[in-house]
Amino acid sequence: MKILIVYAHPEPQSMNGTMFSSAVNALTNAGHEVKVSDLYAMRFNPVSDRTNFTTVNNPTFFKQQAEEVYASQMNGFADFIEDEQQKVEWCDLMIWQFPLWWFSVPAILKGWVDRVFTMGRFYKNGRIYENGIFRGKRALLSLTTGGPEANYIKERYGTLETILHPLQRGILEFTGFSVLQPHVIYGTEKQSTEKLALEAEAWKARLKDIFNEEPIMAINIEQG
Ligand SMILES: Cc1cc2nc3c(=O)[nH]c(=O)nc-3n(C[C@H](O)[C@H](O)[C@H](O)COP(=O)(O)OP(=O)(O)OC[C@H]3O[C@@H](n4cnc5c(N)ncnc54)[C@H](O)[C@@H]3O)c2cc1C
Repeated sequence: MKILIVYAHPEPQSMNGTMFSSAVNALTNAGHEVKVSDLYAMRFNPVSDRTNFTTVNNPTFFKQQAEEVYASQMNGFADFIEDEQQKVEWCDLMIWQFPLWWFSVPAILKGWVDRVFTMGRFYKNGRIYENGIFRGKRALLSLTTGGPEANYIKERYGTLETILHPLQRGILEFTGFSVLQPHVIYGTEKQSTEKLALEAEAWKARLKDIFNEEPIMAINIEQG
């Protein structure tokens, strides 16, 4: 199968770095085709503006989604955006590996989404959720937290399902991906080296069977 790993951590020796390299090795050794977007190594610029495009729809007023629709029709995305879009279109499974920063993804990964997940190409009228363009593809969030698991309850930080809702429901399912159970290491810095080494092994073990997993339905927080 074809797997894209989008990785957002500035330090290769971090636990996220370990999870990233473990996934690349495990999936490649299992015979899968793996492509990566190592966003810090690429020095991916998260600032979304006219440099996303080689085309110009309206030169006097920049409206990003209108430019996206135009660029989708005119083949007008900048090469570095086009390359990332083709990777997403290519994969059967997309994994994001990141540390939870301010209850979200690091800005470099959010900027990657802002620039790459474009109207007209990745979603459009009537082509969202169950009719989404990426129907049939799967996505998986693999993340680490600083806070302990006990704090991820409604009365404290909020549940992780709620925190991940904007990513899982607002981006991934929105564009048609089926979402797998997130892979989480809580309280990362407080774990012993031995425990973290076991976490890396558990991640590799999970990936062995990843294509047999049933997707979850990201919760609708309106209904609790
Ligand atoms: C801007 C910002 C915002 C944040 N917001 C939040 C938040 O909202 N909620 C929250 O809970 N936390 C938050 N944090 C904390 C953050 O989530 C954690 O710092 C992060 O998840 C830890 O992961 P890491 O990869 O950076 O760990 P690191 O500190 O890089 O790694 C942890 C340890 O793992 C070791 N290690 C690496 N590989 C291995 C291996 N193979 N075997 C054994 N040990 C290994 C490393 O040497 C290191 O000692 C925030 C941090 C920042 C900087």
